[in-house]
Amino acid sequence: MSDLQSAALARVKPSATIAVSAKARALAAAGRDIIGLGAGEPDFDTPDNIKAAAIKAINDGQTKYTDADGMPALKKAIVDKFARENGLTYDVNQIHVAPGGKPVIFNALVATLNPGDEVIIPAPYWVSYPDMVLLAGGEPVFVTGAEADGFKLRPEVLEAAITPRTKWLILNSPSNPTGAAYTRLELHRLAEVLRLHPHVWILTDDMYEHLTFDGFEYTTIAQVAPDLYDRTLTVNGVSKAYAMTGWRIGYAGGPKALIDLMRKVASQTTSNPTSISQYAAVEALNGTQAFLKPRNDAFQARRDLVVSMLNQATGIRCPNPEGAFYVYPSVEGLIGKTTPSGVVITDDEVFTTELLEAEGVAVVQGSAFGLSPYFRISYATSEAVLEEACGRIQRFAASLT
Ligand code: PLP
Repeated sequence: MSDLQSAALARVKPSATIAVSAKARALAAAGRDIIGLGAGEPDFDTPDNIKAAAIKAINDGQTKYTDADGMPALKKAIVDKFARENGLTYDVNQIHVAPGGKPVIFNALVATLNPGDEVIIPAPYWVSYPDMVLLAGGEPVFVTGAEADGFKLRPEVLEAAITPRTKWLILNSPSNPTGAAYTRLELHRLAEVLRLHPHVWILTDDMYEHLTFDGFEYTTIAQVAPDLYDRTLTVNGVSKAYAMTGWRIGYAGGPKALIDLMRKVASQTTSNPTSISQYAAVEALNGTQAFLKPRNDAFQARRDLVVSMLNQATGIRCPNPEGAFYVYPSVEGLIGKTTPSGVVITDDEVFTTELLEAEGVAVVQGSAFGLSPYFRISYATSEAVLEEACGRIQRFAASLT
């Protein structure tokens, strides 16, 4: 069996967030009272108008293959979305649709990376970026954002990381796992660096665009720096904003030459995303957006609750992020302490394991996202559950000596 696994796959590790969810499910099945704050998906249901569009598509017989990278009506809806919400002008032949944001990103990497090509990934990062880069044959290069900067990439750190082998910079705003979002000025400063290095492409993952708080003005880099448009892939999708994680539709706008390469990958791998989901996504983008604001308000109230309660926990420090549905608190103040059962908290992985053991709260250790000693909470669940979970975290932190 040892030679079954390819060398490319041997470089990849399984998803840590999926592992935490599996462990929490196993404990719950064994009768433990478990609160899972590991999964990255909205608890809201897909809006009814979107479901109705999918049902209509089925009844109308729209159940055949479509173009490999998306049907014209959806590409047109995406073109209109980019124009309306981001001030970005794309032609339909500059749009790629795939079964989720994840395959959009993977198709771009597979289409462009040669062995040894470097991809700059700001840490803390979404767990899948490094492994997708490795699977595509590239080399992840990590640059770390400081907590004091809201975990965001500083221009001088970016500058120092760029080499002649750099192919891509991946940006993610608002961020999974920190919730941090880049302001127009911060993007402008990064653009100043990128302008000096014309060989570097930019992949911006805007999946959490619609989840921002306190009136944050969302912008994306091709909008802030139009001169970078010709080497920017703007990735987005319906999974998070429209509570459609299971429908599997992601999309991107970018230079035609890149989009052509990505279509070639899709045409020989997945073929088209599900036709029914594409009709649903057309309705998501073209239909009413009225539910976004109340849902955002609910997420903001949850963020406020979680940030406030965690900052009242002994030894935990929780920054107040601009968006997404994650917080990324520090457990620096708990390292070296001992649990009542005699375990020394040496790092964030021991912290999350012992928290799950003692109080039944499942969160993900910061080491999975490339920055310790932190942990990630997904607060896409009710305030009552969050209050109970944060109370348990407070109790666990207070129990350490
Ligand atoms: N990008 C980020 C930052 C994410 O957090 C996720 C999902 O967790 C994705 C992309 C992938 O989204 P999708 O479910 O559409 O593949």
